[in-house]
Amino acid sequence: MRVWQDLDLAEVKKHLLICGDPSGDCANCREVGINIQNAKSCPTGKTEFKYMATRVTGSTSQAKRLKAKRPDLIAIDFSDFKDAKTRSEAHKFLR
Ligand SMILES: [Zn+2]
Repeated sequence: MRVWQDLDLAEVKKHLLICGDPSGDCANCREVGINIQNAKSCPTGKTEFKYMATRVTGSTSQAKRLKAKRPDLIAIDFSDFKDAKTRSEAHKFLR
């Protein structure tokens, strides 16, 4: 089941764990090598993780695997995040 919800980009970025294989990155401060399995917050920035994204977009099986690892985090689609980011940056540029 997919849930679509409008989220605030800045809020998501602050609390987003970008899941790679085998470790994750913090979207907020770019810290790398984060343990996806048990990191509750960023070891450097100390921000709590609330969201996670997979770099492999459109992969339902990977999203399911991640969700099984971290049922406490909200899984978002990384391509959606990037699109939203590009839009907001373009918006800033036009102002
Ligand atoms: Zn961080």
